[in-house]
Amino acid sequence: MRDALLKCCARIDSIWSNRPSTDGLTDARVNEWLSELAIAIAEFRELYRWLEDEHVLTLEDALPQLQHLDTESAKELLKGVGRKPSRGHPIERRDIAIRALEMKTGDGDVSWADVAASLCPCQNLDHTKGCAEAIRRNVERLKLVLKKYSISY
Ligand SMILES: [Zn+2]
Repeated sequence: MRDALLKCCARIDSIWSNRPSTDGLTDARVNEWLSELAIAIAEFRELYRWLEDEHVLTLEDALPQLQHLDTESAKELLKGVGRKPSRGHPIERRDIAIRALEMKTGDGDVSWADVAASLCPCQNLDHTKGCAEAIRRNVERLKLVLKKYSISY
């Protein structure tokens, strides 16, 4: 997944250095270029969101990215610098989805109930079908993202 993120950075970089020259510039050409850049940045953000909780963003990481971002995105990125990952629900769920997928793709025949028993964040001693189902759904969402970026798992 990190590789995909780096690839995505490289693409943003190449789109950036391919910006239209001022000779014979048309609005259509500029718009085309801008939307290409916007798509690449949106993909970067989508991937980055899945990884952010494993990682405290340092200023050294952030600086090279800043030149590619518009002011708003740059502000957002800077807000995250040095911040410990928050332990909020959604981020916790993403972390669990990644670990659950690893369990399911690892050795042995692991059921969703087994996955829930080791990973479910709820406080109950016995995890229900609902627990297993919630994790399964998050893993399905993760798989879609992985497939979209052709990341093997
Ligand atoms: Zn549970």
